[in-house]
Amino acid sequence: MNAPGEPDLREVDPEIFGLIEAEDRRQRDSLRLIASENYASKAVLQATGTSLTNKYAEGYPGRRYYEGMECVDPIETLAIDRAKELFGAEHANVQPYSGSPANLAVLLGLCDPGDTIMGLSLPAGGHLTHGWKVSATGIYYNAVQYGVRQSDHRIDMDQLRDLAREHKPKLIWCGHSAYPRLLDFAAFAEIAAEVGAYLAADIAHIAGLVAGGVHPSPVPHADAVTTTTHKTLRGPRGGLILCKEAHAAAIDKAVFPGLQGGPHNHSTAAKAVAFREALQPSFKVYAAQIVANARALGEALMGRGYSLVTGGTDNHLLLVDLTPQGVGARKVARDLNRCGIELNANSVPFDTRSPFDPSGLRVGLASLTSRGLLEKDMPGVAEFMDDAIQGSIKAGKKRIPSALAEALGAKIREFLGDFPAPGL
Ligand SMILES: *Cc1c(COP(=O)(O)O)cnc(C)c1O
Repeated sequence: MNAPGEPDLREVDPEIFGLIEAEDRRQRDSLRLIASENYASKAVLQATGTSLTNKYAEGYPGRRYYEGMECVDPIETLAIDRAKELFGAEHANVQPYSGSPANLAVLLGLCDPGDTIMGLSLPAGGHLTHGWKVSATGIYYNAVQYGVRQSDHRIDMDQLRDLAREHKPKLIWCGHSAYPRLLDFAAFAEIAAEVGAYLAADIAHIAGLVAGGVHPSPVPHADAVTTTTHKTLRGPRGGLILCKEAHAAAIDKAVFPGLQGGPHNHSTAAKAVAFREALQPSFKVYAAQIVANARALGEALMGRGYSLVTGGTDNHLLLVDLTPQGVGARKVARDLNRCGIELNANSVPFDTRSPFDPSGLRVGLASLTSRGLLEKDMPGVAEFMDDAIQGSIKAGKKRIPSALAEALGAKIREFLGDFPAPGL
């Protein structure tokens, strides 16, 4: 039973309550195209807001340092079993607080400080935690970065092989935050095997596509697979590591006590719920629809004269290259946000502009697909984007005129009225 007469959030903290309500409204009313975001289901959100946040549970199911695990142990065990089933993995650790700690745990578990590691460079679409210099992974490890080919902006497997032979890395990362094509995990594994390196696949962005069977799985090929649970997978904010049984003890020890303390049990429960949702046949339909929508939006944008990195997409994201328009993407992205179109400026391969004002717009389709938009709706989305981008360019250094931004925002709100936002 609840404590009688306990005031709720609205009464206790009207400021925070009001801001959360405003955020709900913002997410409902805007065209959410940030490639790393999604709408978690109501069930996932419910699991996160529970008494599980009150509980300490250092250790693993059956091997804890505290009492009172009657409910937390079965919850974590369900999350582990479902993750293993969903991805066909030998071992799962569901405790990483997020994607970055999951990656650090893999390095802590499989490498020694100072070891050489390799990863796709940030400007080529890689992630900070794959050895970029400002990240702990680039500070504590000797990171060598590979890239994409200048000719077609696809990952340069020849360069990767040459660099791997030269530097003999202990571990090679594959995975990305901004690469619109499929990854050939078998080819990465072959190179890793040739030089005696571990292969770690980071599927943070594409986990939902892998789970839904529309992107090849790295699980048979990689020593360890990391992911966030909140991107295409539609779970709560969190991380997950899958690995071969041979690495299970090292990975578990790296997560706890190596890197983390008590697991976030409310997140673990919500991960279990998300894995259950992703195990349903409807999730395969969802994953395929994300890719179909991305392709359709790409076609519609190219039809309006926009240039896409690699000329299209195989996954959930597009990179629009504004180099031909001769403008920086940062100001355009800000103006789009004023119109209710949410996306982010992103470097394109071999970008001549600075990372703070790069040439690309990164566009992801997971969120709109969660709202039920289909291919037929993508020409409309492209039109909103085009109107806003042209309005922004025409305004030059000045912000997009508010009359235009408000008119577009109103049209978008009306358009989205037919597509309820899950969880809100
Ligand atoms: C998002 C992302 C991460 C980091 O996830 P956080 O939860 O933000 O720490 C790691 N790797 C890749 C490839 C990502 O896209």
